[in-house]
Order: sequence, then structure tokens, then C-alpha cells
Amino acid sequence: MRDTPPPYRTVVFDCDSTLSAIEGIDELGAARRAEIEALTNRAMSGELRLEDVYALRLALVRPSKARVERLGQEYVERALPEARALVNALHALEKRVVIVSGGVATAVRVLAAHLGVVDERVHAVELRFDAAGEYAGFDARSPLARSGGKVEVLRELGGERDARPLALVGDGITDLEAGEADGGADRFIAYGGVARRTAVFERARVTCATKSLAGLVPLLFSAAEIDTLSRRPEHAALLRATHLTS
Ligand SMILES: [Mg+2]
Repeated sequence: MRDTPPPYRTVVFDCDSTLSAIEGIDELGAARRAEIEALTNRAMSGELRLEDVYALRLALVRPSKARVERLGQEYVERALPEARALVNALHALEKRVVIVSGGVATAVRVLAAHLGVVDERVHAVELRFDAAGEYAGFDARSPLARSGGKVEVLRELGGERDARPLALVGDGITDLEAGEADGGADRFIAYGGVARRTAVFERARVTCATKSLAGLVPLLFSAAEIDTLSRRPEHAALLRATHLTS
């Protein structure tokens, strides 16, 4: 697996257990939570194929539009420490910041807005609702609802003009697969600050397990870029947090 050191032009983040400390679908689970959590864990560690659990989990949950919008707020409330500051720093250095998630698009966009990422840079799975706002299915054609789908999205992103080198940060097996595949990421960082998945950490060349996303700074920015950030007072708190985590 290749690994290209910083700087990057594009930085792609997973959402669940990476930018936010929750697994959205588990939160939607309510009464069936234990059952759904078990399916999520087995999928994220590679034991079950994502496409085999995706429809099943949603059929168990059947989330309403209102519930999915509330999930967006929960993503924001449980956003990782320094998530917003890190995105701000990436944007300040004119990086393209993208969120690629197997989660529910309506909810992921709420977190993205909080972090300053525009809707066009959010790739997630659209749900359908009926006129009363009740669950009416999901976009089964979305590559993000199946194993191997993240790499398709990454290849597309990496093929955009001036997109590379591209770094990917995520906790799950689908992230690792996308990072390792040809035409995927130029660097994959396994993030274990929320869920340290052994199957992912054992294979990843670059890992980070700090509780704060500030721990990603030395892995995503070059020394020259960190120097540039250090001369701008608005990034001082992020860089201070970086030293505290190392
Ligand atoms: Mg995740």
C-alpha cells in the first residue's frame, strides 16, 4: 500500500466514529439498538458485507424524516474535539475537504454545515420519505451502501482536476479498503479515537488514536504548512491541542 506524505490537495473524512463520536444508524435504533449495533460492528470489522446489513438495519429502524434531522443535531453535539478547527485550518490552506459516509445524507449534511463543508462535498446515502415524513426506502443504487463502494467514490474524487494527492481518514473497514485500492487514497489514516478496530489498525500504515482530531495535524499537514498555520492566531488553539495530544 503506497503512502504519500503531506501536503495534500484533498482531505476526505468518514463521518461516523471519525468526525462524530456516534454511529448514526445505531442512534436511530432505539428499541432495536443492540441488534443494530452488533450488525454495524460486524460490518465495520469486515465480518459481514455492508450491502447485507444496510437494508436490514434500515428496515429494522424505519427512521422518519424528523428523526433523521434530529440525528444531524446529535452528530453536531458529539462532533470530535477540534473537528471544526481542523476543517477551518484545511480550508485556510485551500484544501478541498470532503465527507464520504455510508450514513444518512440528510443527517450528515447537518454536521457538514456545522463544520463548514458545503453540501456538494458531502457524499452519503439518501433516504426516501413519504408525504407524511415516514420512511419509504433508501437509494439502493448508492455505492456507499455496499462494500467496495467508497473506493468508487474516492476514485471519482481523485479524478477531479487538481484533486491529488488525496488523504482519507476513517475508522472502518470500508475506509481501509478505499484507502488501499488502486486509485483510492494517496494516504490512508486509520482513526481510532472513538472505535479502534483491530482489523483496520493492523493493516493501516498510518494510524491515529488521539481523542481529539488535533492529533491528525502532523499527519495531514507538512512542516511548512504547520509553520504557515502557526503564524495565524486563529489556528493557535488547534496547534496547542496538537501538542497536548502527542
Ligand atoms: Mg466510520
